[in-house]
Parts: sequence; structure tokens; C-alpha cells
Amino acid sequence: MHISDKDSISKVQNLLDEIYSSANSRISAEDILLRLSENLALTFDVLGHNRDSENLFAKALSWLFAYCRVLDVDLQDTVIERYPNVCPHCILNPCQCNLTNKLPYGSTIPLYQRNSELAQHAMVLRNAINLNKNGIFSLDDASDMLDSIYPNNGSIFMINPYFFSAKLSRESGKIINSFRKFRSSSDSSSSPYIRKQIEKDIADVFAWTIGFWRLRIIDTGNTSIQIEFVKRYQTGCPYCNAIPCACPEEKRLGHRAELKVLKTEKEISELVTLLKSKLESINNEINSIPELDHERQIRLEQIDISDKGSVLGFLDKAAEITKKTKSTTKNVDSILLNISKIYEWVERTFM
Ligand SMILES: [Zn+2]
Ligand SMILES: [Zn+2]
Repeated sequence: MHISDKDSISKVQNLLDEIYSSANSRISAEDILLRLSENLALTFDVLGHNRDSENLFAKALSWLFAYCRVLDVDLQDTVIERYPNVCPHCILNPCQCNLTNKLPYGSTIPLYQRNSELAQHAMVLRNAINLNKNGIFSLDDASDMLDSIYPNNGSIFMINPYFFSAKLSRESGKIINSFRKFRSSSDSSSSPYIRKQIEKDIADVFAWTIGFWRLRIIDTGNTSIQIEFVKRYQTGCPYCNAIPCACPEEKRLGHRAELKVLKTEKEISELVTLLKSKLESINNEINSIPELDHERQIRLEQIDISDKGSVLGFLDKAAEITKKTKSTTKNVDSILLNISKIYEWVERTFM
């Protein structure tokens, strides 16, 4: 099965199950939550220099899908229940929580009726999806709906972009908290209530992640989170291109790895090839600055690729040489930024 830009959230969830359910069955629910939390935090990178990292959001959401799988939660249903085209607190679209203090609007809806009111809205939304969209509710449909409920997010983001990362961080804490409650009371009478709480928390993480992603598109003009998914998973696992994922443990590069710290180039040749190409690109970039002609003192062939100290020494030297230029061109900044990124990567990856 493959996903297209028109598929429903449920179908995306099924596809990710096909790719990862076997690989992830070896990972505990706790570890899946750790990955989710890790990847949600990494989306904050888009606020810094790493602004092109669109796929951070697809990655974070795919861990949310994985969490849904272990708890047997249908993400699409859960989102529709929690955000049935209205804000779950004030029951309005657009949200007026700033006027109602997060209480249901008007004097006619008491708090205890909020859930039944929301259930009514969910029924209306489901009918509309069946009637107008052939039952399909895509990630983009969810994104548009959330945007219509919370149209002020754009202005809040302009004033304080960090507000959303703080919110997402809080939601990440809540989802962990409800899981711990669930785990410690799974056979008591409170468990259906806690399960409901988990579903709410899942929907909230989804809404804030999509909301944060959507604010990023103010800059990039790319308006489809679904297309990010299609691009990332169109051939199956983005690393091994297979359905189900057939990645051997030691080839799981990047953030999704059980971080395996590497000592020598024999341990994983692919990673060393990647390191070599990164160093080469630095060298080429430096050599492309004409005024540094007389300063070309670094020689790629002189570094010992299996020695972390030697690699970091090369990067130090490269930074030093680049900084010496009087030029204030963007080119120099981008070389320095690249050096610092590679430095951090080498420090984290190689022992
Ligand atoms: Zn509201
Ligand atoms: Zn794979």
C-alpha cells in the first residue's frame, strides 16, 4: 500500500503500521514515547538555523502514529472527537477562549454538558466528511480545520515564535503523564477515564504539532503536511525503501537510531562515507573563496578519518581560516554554519 496526497489520516496510520509495526514491536511503549518526545523537541530546530528541516514534522507525527498503534487508538477518530470543527473548551469556531476563560460560550451550556455538546459536533463533522469528502479526512483537512478554529495563531507566532515550542513541550509532558497513569491503573475502574485522557492528549499533541508546522509555512509557502508524508514514505521506510522496514539495527542512521556510538570506520562504512563527503564539501567551499588563496593550509588527505580528534581538528582549522577572511559575504556565514553543524554531528556520533 502507498499513500497519496488525497488519503485519509486512517490510511496514513495503516501504511505506517505496515512499514513499522514489526520493527516497532521490539520497542516498548515507553521507548516510543521517548522517541516522540525527542522528535517533538527536535522540531524546535526550525526556529534556529535549521529552517529547512520540514521533514522533522513528518518524523515527529510518525512517532505519534506509532504511539497510537501500541495503545490501539485511531488518530483520525480521536482528532475528530476532540476538535469537531470547534474548540474543545469554548465550543466555538473561531475559538473565543480569551473571552470565555476557556469555558463553554454563553450562559446556556453548563460545563457538564460540554462533552455531549462536543459529541454532537463530532457527529455533524463525521456526516459532513462522509457526504462531501467521500469519508476522507486527510492531514491537510485536519490542518485547515484547526486553522479555522485558531485563526490567531499566525499573529501569536509573529509576536513570539517560542510560544508554540513551549506549548508543544507542555503537551509532550502531558502525554507522558497520562501514559504513566494508564500504566499504573490499567485494570482498575478508572482506566476508561484515563484512556479518554490519553486520547485527548494524543489529539492535543497532534493539533499543536500541525499548528506549529503550519506556522512554518508562512515562510516556505509549502501548504501541505500530507505531501511531506507522501514524500517521506512513498517508497516505504525512507532509509531502506521497503514495506515493511527492513533496516538492520546498525544502519539506522540519524535521530531514529538506538544511538550506537561509533568507534572506528570499520564499524559502519556508510557513516564514514557520509563524513568524508561532508568534509569534502567544507574543503571545496573554503577553496571557493578567492581571497583565501594563500591561506589554503588544510589538506583533507592529511586527516585520519578514524580518529575523532583529527576530524575535529580539521574542522577547527577550517573555521579558523574561514573566520580570517575580511569578506562579509553570506557565503562565509554559510560555511561557518556548515562547519559548526558538522562539528556537532561528529561530536554526537563518533566516540
Ligand atoms: Zn476556545
Ligand atoms: Zn527501514
